[in-house]
Formats: sequence, C-alpha cells, structure tokens
Amino acid sequence: MKKLSLRVKITLWFSAVLILVVALTYFAVLSVSRQVIQKTVKDSLITTVTDNIDEVEYYCDIDFEHISNDVDYYIEYNGGYIEIDDDFLREVNQVYTSLCLSDKSLVYGENPIVSKTSDLELTDYSLRQITIDSTIYYVYDRRLTLKGLEGLWLRGVVSEAQGAVQLSSIVRMSLILLPVLVLLVIIGGYLTAGRTLKPIDRISEAAAQIRQGNDLKRRIDLGEGGDEVHRLADQFNEMFGRLEASFLSQQQFISDASHELRTPVSVIMAQCELTLEQERSPAEYEEALEVIQRQGRKMSRLVKDMMYFTRLELHPERYEKNEINLTEFVEDTCGDLAIIAEKGIELSCDVQRNIYFKGNKGLLTRLLSNLINNAYRYGKDGGFIKVSLKSEENNIILSVKDNGIGIEPSELQNIFRRFYQADPSHTGEGSGLGLAMAREITRFHKGEISAESKLGVGSTFTVTFPKNIL
Ligand code: ADP
Repeated sequence: MKKLSLRVKITLWFSAVLILVVALTYFAVLSVSRQVIQKTVKDSLITTVTDNIDEVEYYCDIDFEHISNDVDYYIEYNGGYIEIDDDFLREVNQVYTSLCLSDKSLVYGENPIVSKTSDLELTDYSLRQITIDSTIYYVYDRRLTLKGLEGLWLRGVVSEAQGAVQLSSIVRMSLILLPVLVLLVIIGGYLTAGRTLKPIDRISEAAAQIRQGNDLKRRIDLGEGGDEVHRLADQFNEMFGRLEASFLSQQQFISDASHELRTPVSVIMAQCELTLEQERSPAEYEEALEVIQRQGRKMSRLVKDMMYFTRLELHPERYEKNEINLTEFVEDTCGDLAIIAEKGIELSCDVQRNIYFKGNKGLLTRLLSNLINNAYRYGKDGGFIKVSLKSEENNIILSVKDNGIGIEPSELQNIFRRFYQADPSHTGEGSGLGLAMAREITRFHKGEISAESKLGVGSTFTVTFPKNIL
C-alpha cells in the first residue's frame, strides 16, 4: 500500500479527533437537553394549572343584563354560577387544562388528551407520569377550594412528546449543522495542511535536483517569511552553500595539486627522453639522475604536505591536545632550527617565561618551523630572524620577524591560499602549502594568523592564540 502523505495523515488525525469531540458533544447535548426539556415541560404544566386556578370564580347570583358584553364563560353550579375568566388557558404550549368534578366528569375544557386520563384518580398537588398508547404524559391536579367551588378540580395534562418536539428540533439542527461544520473544518484543514507543507515539497524537489544534477548552485526559494519551514529552507540553503564552497575548494585543491605535480613530472619525462636519445658519458648520466632525484624529492615533499594538510582538514579529531609549556617548546624549536643558519642568517628567540597552552605539539612544531623556514628561504644573506613569545591579557602572541625580501602589499591577502607563491623565482624548495597549513593549524587551536610586510625590508608573521583554560 502506498504510504500516506504527511498532509493526509495530519488531516486524518485531526478529523478523527474532531469527529470524536463532535460525537461526545452530541451525546452531552442529548442527555442534558432531554433533562432540561423534561423539567421545563413539567414546570410549565404546574405553572399553567396554578395560574388557571385564579381564573375560576363562583357567584351566587349574576345580573346577566349588565354583563352582556362580557366574554367570560358561565356555568350553573350549586345554585349559583362558575365564572371562567377569559384568561383561563385551556391550551397553552400544548398544556391542556380542564375543569372537572370529583368523579372526573368534565365541566369545562374538553380536549382529547385530558379525556384519555379519566382512569387516573384526582390527587391534589401531585405530578404523575402515565403512558397512554405508548405516549408518556404528565398529569397535574389541583383541588379548587374557594367558597362555592368545592368539589371542583383542575387537571392539567401535557405530553412528553411536546418536549420531544423541541428536543428533536435541536437535534435536527445540530444533526445537520455539526456535520456540515466538521466537513468545512476538515476541508479547510486539508487545504491549510497542503499550503503549509508545500514548501517542504519544494525543499525536497531542490534536494533531489541537486542530487540528480550535482547542481550545488541551486537554492530553495520560498519567498518572504519567517516561519519554521522558511527557517528550515534557510538552513538548507546555508548547508548547500557550505557544501558548494567545500566542493569547490576540493576541486581547486585537486586541480592545484595536479598542476603542481605536472611540472616535476614533465621535467623528469623530458630529462629521461633527452638522456636516452643517444649514448651518454657517465658524468652526463649522473647529472641527469640528479635532476630526476631533485624533482622526485620535490614531488615527494608535495605529496607529504598535501596528505598532512588533508588529514588535518578532514580529521581534526585525530589530533589530541595536551598541556604544553609553550616557552620551552618555542626555545627548543628555535634551538633546533638555528642550526640551519642558511645564508648566514641569525635566529634569535625572545620568550616570556612560563607560558602554558593546551594544544597539539606536532602541529605547533609544524606551524613554527614553517614560519621559520620561510624566513630563512626568503631571507637576505647575513640577515636575522627574531622569534618572540609573550602573554597578554586574553591572548598568547607568537611572532616570527625577518628582514628578508618582503612581500608586495597586493600579495599579502593571497599568501595564505593553498599553492599560492608570491614570487616563484624565490621558492626553491617550497610547495606553496606552508602558510596555508600554518593557517589551518592556527584555526585548529582557535587562533588567528596575520602577516605584515614591506617589500625589500622584511616581514612579520603573528599568531594569536586565545588563552585556554588548562
Ligand atoms: P612556499 O612553499 O612557496 O614558501 P608558503 O605557503 O609557505 O609557500 O608561502 C607562500 C608565499 O608567501 C611564498 O611563496 C612567498 O612568496 C611568500 N612568503 C612566505 N613567507 C615569506 C617571508 N618570510 N618573506 C617573504 N615572503 C614570504
């Protein structure tokens, strides 16, 4: 069976809840209204009969000539007259009232229902329920006590069906109205759910298109809005942006790496072809092999650097951080590298005591040696390199200063890019990855690296680490 869509599931769920609520409401309305209506019917019976008592009076003698316009009704009784006032309600709201004698013979107010109750004894102030022809009736009797009216009774009768008529009109109305309302709510809910979930369809469409076409440039456009779905789309767009950037950077890395490897490979190939063209002297073979060895070394260094770089970028979790006495660490590294003493350059070290830092020693060695090696490589004969380490309020500052060839101001923002070499004529052993790696290592330690330089005067590379709690 095809899986139900989210929209249908939501609609089914709230429809079920709604129908349950409506059914319970029906049940409650029916039971409450039946009780209320029964009580209303009974009250109206008692009130009507009680009110009618006052509309019956007795007169010993009446001068009919003077009351010719009277609309009241007169019945001879006990040598006098019963006057039934015109306000006497024989029937009101289906409550029938009759006047009868103690033997239940009717005096006034004939009607079919009251006559059906003739089997029931007259009992003062008593409300009873009887069933005649499977219809339930309420009967209420009152004895008349006024002088002259003795032996007369008022009987009121109302059928329960009278109440049921009112009840059934309520039920009928709700039977029609509530399902219509429920239907409207369900349709409205279905449409709203559809409209709300439509952007999610667009998100999945965009994701599918990116997957099928590898088009990382695609973004989800939901228009203006700040609801959850718009926020989700924003997150997706941000993720796509990052994916695109990282994908492009990987592509760039591969293309740069192959470009860098192409030169030594071409040199090796050309050297081999040239050497093998004809018989050579041992000295010429030796020279050719030296060229090949040099290029081989360059390639090997490049590959090693690339692997190191990629490992740090992809698996930073493999590099543990430990407490390091940074003072000793910088002194030791400078001591080791001072031995190089290339081009008569002098390396000096000025460090503040007892600076501790939580970091990865291997990576920090790589960082500092990259900076010092660069200072040698791009230094002038008999120049200097000054390494300094100091602690400020929130930061630890490590800097490497030289008085070498310097860097063009326009090049400064590029030198941290992978494979970027400002002046290829000076690089020699360089791979163009040294500073990119230095920046990656600094980032790994949540720090920043910057460079200041003046062409022909020298450069200073400054690494700032935030002090971390040991
Ligand atoms: P490379 O392997 O070429 O040295 P780096 O990433 O270490 O690659 O450096 C990038 C470029 O920055 C270098 O090619 C060089 O032009 C410039 N550079 C780096 N350090 C210095 C320095 N101390 N003095 C002058 N230029 C430098």
